[in-house]
Amino acid sequence: MTHHATRTLQELGYRLTPQRTLVWDVLRRSDLHMSAEEVSARVQEQFPHINISTIYRTLELLVGLGLVRETHLGPTRRFFEVEEEVPHHHLVCEACGKVAHVHDEDLGTLEGVLLAEHGFLLRELTVFGRCRACGDGTDDATPGATEGGEGCTSPTVS
Ligand SMILES: [Zn+2]
Ligand SMILES: [Zn+2]
Repeated sequence: MTHHATRTLQELGYRLTPQRTLVWDVLRRSDLHMSAEEVSARVQEQFPHINISTIYRTLELLVGLGLVRETHLGPTRRFFEVEEEVPHHHLVCEACGKVAHVHDEDLGTLEGVLLAEHGFLLRELTVFGRCRACGDGTDDATPGATEGGEGCTSPTVS
């Protein structure tokens, strides 16, 4: 199935240069959230001499056309992914950096509460925390376990 992007690009008069096709293909094949650097590295595996700024410009073009979504996950992390039909939100693990998706139905009443009580129209959420694999941090910080003096000692460097 040809993605609508191919048509959109052509309809808008953008030539489907190999670089543009390649950037698009890299994003489409990945179901991950990729940084501009990761996209570049992947493209360069096939086009070793491609100019990085060409890749960055292509990413911006695709974002501008609404084909690729750019998400800021924290101040220094910027990710690109193919825009989906269904809006989604991001869960970002602060321990391992993993990014997961949640959809509107997972938000429960949050959307309605924000609108009713704050007049705020929710578009996109980014939630920071810890993924299941990383745990909630309670394993080594059990309340009341401080008597033994363990866990609260500052690391001493010898
Ligand atoms: Zn994690
Ligand atoms: Zn996403």
